[in-house]
Amino acid sequence: MFHNIPEIAFRYALGVLIITYGLITINLLKNYSKTKKVARKKVFSENVFMFLDWWGVVAIPWMYILFNFFKSYNFYLPHTIRIIGISLYTIGLLLFYYSYKILGKNWSMTLEVDSNQKLCKTGPYKYVRHPMYSSFFLIMFAQLLISANLIVGGVGILFWTMLFLNRIHAEEKMMFELFGKKYIEYISTTGVIFPKLSLAHKK
Ligand code: SAH
Repeated sequence: MFHNIPEIAFRYALGVLIITYGLITINLLKNYSKTKKVARKKVFSENVFMFLDWWGVVAIPWMYILFNFFKSYNFYLPHTIRIIGISLYTIGLLLFYYSYKILGKNWSMTLEVDSNQKLCKTGPYKYVRHPMYSSFFLIMFAQLLISANLIVGGVGILFWTMLFLNRIHAEEKMMFELFGKKYIEYISTTGVIFPKLSLAHKK
């Protein structure tokens, strides 16, 4: 059906999506709360992982978009699947933005909690404890589908998975230390990045 679409259109589409992602992130950083931090968790080489992730999300995709780098790693994917990738990336961005709107001042780049921290349980946080991380997985998977390139897709998924695995346990421990029983109760009704199936049955 969509076989007439030139290859470059997918590269540009990915570029527009990454710029939108960047704009949301800049907004997030601008509104980053300066309130007093009451606890911080240092996780193993967090800066190294964040730096690697930046390559996977920004630098490598832009080399591919602007200069058609890594073209020997292109693989065949039907255009319909690549268009589905564009839709998934868009859904990922909407989920990222929605989660940020709900999390508000509780958002932070590294793991920390401040004196005004509230436990968010509404919007996407009603179903999963880490909807932002769900959105990043969706975005990274979509990047693989849109680019149809092993390096651009693979490196994004690999680096993001490493960053995620490195911080998720520490983040939940930090939340438990702050909210105690309330967080345990919250865990019992939510999934980590996918909603709990039993919850879907209940409603
Ligand atoms: N992991 C979450 C939030 C990412 S931002 C997500 O994927 O949506 C990281 C910061 O969010 C952490 O430092 C923590 O202070 C805060 N945080 C995480 N979950 C939270 C929750 N349910 N309510 C309030 N703050 C939360």
